[in-house]
Amino acid sequence: AAKAAGRGKHCFYEPSMHSEASKRQLLENDLRGALERNELSVVYQPVVRAAGEEVAGFEALVRWKHPKQGDISPTRFIPLAEECGMIGKLGEWVLEQAVHAAREWPDHVRIAVNLSPIQFNDPKIVETVGLALQRSGIRPSRLELEITEGVFLADSDVTDGTFARLKELGVRLALDDFGTGYSSLGYLKKAPFDKIKIDQSFVRGAASTSSRNAAIIRAIVTLAESLGMDTVAEGVETHDDLQLMRDLGVSQIQGYIFGRPSALEDATDLASASSVEADGHQCLREPRQ
Ligand code: C2E
Ligand code: MG
Ligand code: MG
Ligand code: MG
Repeated sequence: AAKAAGRGKHCFYEPSMHSEASKRQLLENDLRGALERNELSVVYQPVVRAAGEEVAGFEALVRWKHPKQGDISPTRFIPLAEECGMIGKLGEWVLEQAVHAAREWPDHVRIAVNLSPIQFNDPKIVETVGLALQRSGIRPSRLELEITEGVFLADSDVTDGTFARLKELGVRLALDDFGTGYSSLGYLKKAPFDKIKIDQSFVRGAASTSSRNAAIIRAIVTLAESLGMDTVAEGVETHDDLQLMRDLGVSQIQGYIFGRPSALEDATDLASASSVEADGHQCLREPRQ
C-alpha cells in the first residue's frame, strides 16, 4: 500500500502520524483523568408522548469535551471506557447525575440511563442502582435503564438474576437500538422489558424511503403491544416521519424534531413546561398534576 501511494509521497512515514492503535491508546490515557478534570458532562434529550406533545421523560447522554480535540462522541469513547475498565466508574457517575436531575422535574417525568453490557453484567449493579435511587429519593419507576442486545452475549447467570432483581427494585427496563442485533426476537423473551426503542436505522427517513421500514416498524409495534411493552421511535427529525410514527401507533417519540440533547437547566424548563411542539418550541400549558 505504501508503494501504491506513489514515490515522493511520505504519508506512511510522517513521524507525527500515529497509527490508529496508538491514537486510541493516547485517547484512552486522556479519558482516564477526564472525570477528575471535569471534562465530562451529562445532557438530556426529551422523549415525548406520540399522542399529544407531552414530555414523558428524558434520556441522559454523556459528553466529553477533550481539552485539545474538543467534543468527542460517546460512540467513540464509551468503547474505550469499556476497554480500559473505567466504564463502571463513568456509568455510575452518569447514573448519579441523572437521578439527581430527575428530582428537579415533575413526578411523572422519567429519566432514562444507558447501561453498558459490562456494567450490567457486574454483580454489583443492582446494589449500585438501589443506592442511587435511595440517595435521590425518586420513585424507582421513574428510572428507566436502557440496555442493548449486547448484554445477552455474555449469557451468564448474572444476567438472568439481574433482570429479576432490578424489576424487584421497581425500575423500568428498555431494550435500546432494537432490531440491530443478531437475534432481536430471541432477546425479547429473555427479559421483562417495559419498552422497546426502535433503532434510528428503521426510523430516519421512513416516510420518504421505501415502505419496508414502515412495515417493520408496524410489526414491532404490534409485537410490543401484545407483549405489553411501550415503543419509542428514535431519530425522528422531520414532520413526515413524525406523522408516520403516529400513524403506525408508536407510543413515544425521541428525535431532533422535539429537541436535541441539552443542558440540565434547559431540560428542567422543558420538563416543567410539560409539553413541547415539533421543532422544539416549548408551549407553556398548565403542568400536569
Ligand atoms: P443511544 O442510547 O441509542 O442514544 C441515542 C443517540 O441518538 C444519541 O446520540 C442522540 O443524541 C441521538 N439522536 C437522538 N435523536 C436524534 C435525531 O433525531 N437525529 C440524529 N441524527 N441523532 C439523534 P449520542 O448522544 O451521540 O450517543 C450515542 C450512543 O452512545 C448512545 O446511543 C449510547 O449507546 C451511547 N451512550 C451515550 N451516553 C451513554 C452513557 O451514559 N452510558 C453508556 N453506556 N452509553 C452511552
Ligand atoms: Mg439509549
Ligand atoms: Mg438507541
Ligand atoms: Mg445507539
